Amino acid sequence: MAANINEDTQVDDASKKVRLPKELTFQDMYNNQDAFDEDDEDDSDWEPVQKHIEILKWFCTNCTMVNLDDVFLCDICGEHKESGILRHGFYASTFSPEVELIQVESEATGSEKEIWSEASASNCSTAVGFDERMLLHSEVEIKSHPHPERPDRLRAIAASLSAAGIFPGKCCPIPAREITLEELQMVHSSEHIEVVELTRQMFSSYFTPDTYANEHSAHAARLAAGLCADLASAIFSGRVRNGFALVRPPGHHAGVTQAMGFCLHNNAAVAALAAQAAGAKKVLIVDWDVHHGNGTQEIFDQNKSVLYISLHRHEGGKFYPGTGSAFEVGTKGAEGYCVNIPWSRGGVGDNDYIFAFQHVVLPIASKFAPDFTIISAGFDAARGDPLGCCDVTPAGYTQMTHMLSTLSGGKLLVVLEGGYNLRSISSSATAVIKVLLGGSCECELENIIPSKAGLLTVLEVLKIQMKYWPNLSSSFEKLQLQRAMYSVEKKHKQVKRRRVFEPPLWWRWGRKQLLFHILTGHFHLK
Ligand SMILES: [Zn+2]
Ligand SMILES: [Zn+2]
Ligand SMILES: [Zn+2]
Repeated sequence: MAANINEDTQVDDASKKVRLPKELTFQDMYNNQDAFDEDDEDDSDWEPVQKHIEILKWFCTNCTMVNLDDVFLCDICGEHKESGILRHGFYASTFSPEVELIQVESEATGSEKEIWSEASASNCSTAVGFDERMLLHSEVEIKSHPHPERPDRLRAIAASLSAAGIFPGKCCPIPAREITLEELQMVHSSEHIEVVELTRQMFSSYFTPDTYANEHSAHAARLAAGLCADLASAIFSGRVRNGFALVRPPGHHAGVTQAMGFCLHNNAAVAALAAQAAGAKKVLIVDWDVHHGNGTQEIFDQNKSVLYISLHRHEGGKFYPGTGSAFEVGTKGAEGYCVNIPWSRGGVGDNDYIFAFQHVVLPIASKFAPDFTIISAGFDAARGDPLGCCDVTPAGYTQMTHMLSTLSGGKLLVVLEGGYNLRSISSSATAVIKVLLGGSCECELENIIPSKAGLLTVLEVLKIQMKYWPNLSSSFEKLQLQRAMYSVEKKHKQVKRRRVFEPPLWWRWGRKQLLFHILTGHFHLK
C-alpha cells in the first residue's frame, strides 16, 4: 500500500522530492490527506526555523496523540497529562516490567496442562485466550510518535476485566501454545512464515514502515494464532460455549504473503480453519474493525465455506488500507461470500452500525446459516479512537454482539484486532464479554434511524448483494422509500440547525491533525 501511494505521488509530479514511505503510511493511517499534500512542496524554507524553535509536547498515555505542554487534558480523548490509567489493575502492576515478563514465559510452559484441566473441570462457559508473552511484542526504535499498537492495549483490557471480576473470575483461561507450521501454512505462504520467523534473530525490524517486529514478535504472533485456533476448536467441540481472544499482534491485514498494518499472522483466518478442522462446514467472519480486513478477504476470496462480512471506513479508497469497496464480492464461484459495507465518511455511530446489521449482516448471515461465527473485533471504530474517528459506544458493541450471538447455535469466537484508545477498548471489550457471559441487552431495535450517508451505503450494498442473496430485495425496496422520505425530513431539520451552529467534532479533529503534522513533520524535536 505504501509503495503504491509512493509511485502515484511520483507519477503526479516527478519533480517533487521523493517522500519516505515511512511517513506516507503513518500519515495515511491518520487519514491526514490534506496536510500530506501540503508537505509535498519543497519545505527547505523550514530549515532555519528547525534549529531555533523548541516546542514542548507530551504524548497521551490513553490514545498516544501529541499535545502541547501547556494543555493538561488531551485534545483528542480528554485524558489528563499525568494519567494513572496504567497504574491500576492486576496485570498492569504485576507484569509490566519486562524482566518479570520473561520469567513468566519460562514458568508458563510447565503449568499449561493444569490450567486446561482446571478450565474444563470448572464447567465454565466463556473462555479467554490471553498470555503475557504477547506483551513482549513492542516497537524498539524510538520514533517521533509512540506506536499506537502497543502492549498497553492488552494490559488495559486485562486490567479492566480483572477489576470487573470477569477475568480472572467468571471466564476461564485456556493455555497458550505456538501455532504449528502446518496450521500456519493453511493460511500463509511458506515465504511469509519464514520472513516472520527470521525476525526472532533481529533486535528490531520492519515489514512495512508501520509494521514493526522485535525479537519476541514472531513468538507473540504464533501464540496469538495458537490461542485463536484452540479457542475455535474448544468452542466448536462444545468444551466451552464461546470465547474471547485477547491477543496481539492483530491479524486481519495479514494476507497470504504479507505482513502489514500492524498485523503479522491472520488470527481470525487461522481460527476459521481450526473450526473447520474440528468439523465446522460453514464459518462466518464479521469484521467490525474500522479498517477493511484486506488480509482476511484475500485468504477466503475464492472460498464459499467462509463468508466474510466487513464494515469499515472506505471513503472511495482513501481510508487505509484502501480495499473493501462494495463491489468486491468474492471471485471464482465464491461471489456473494464476501460482503463489504464501506462507510463514506468518519464519525459513524451506533445507529449506522446497527442499521447495517439489521438490513445486511443478519439477513445474509441467517441465510448462510453458519456452524461457527468469528468476530474480527477491532475497537477502533469506538468513540475516542485516534485512528478510527468514529462514534461506536460500548452499548453499540453490546448490541452487535447480541445480534450475532444467536447465530451458529451460540458458537461464537471474538478475536481482538485494532483499537487504540485504552479507555475505549477496555470498556468496549468488557461490554462484549458481558454479552458472551449471557448478559442481557436493552434492545430497542425498532426505531433505528441511520444517517443519510449510512442509509446510502446500506442501499448500495443491498443493490450489489441482492444478486447473490435474493432475500435482501424486500429490504432494498422498503429502504428506497425511506430514503425518499428522509430527504424531505432532512430539509426541515437543516433550517432549524442553521440558527445554533456548533463547530463539529470533525473540525476540531482536523485542527488536531494539523497540529500533529506541524509538530512531527517540520520540527524534529526530542
Ligand atoms: Zn488522548
Ligand atoms: Zn472491518
Ligand atoms: Zn483497525
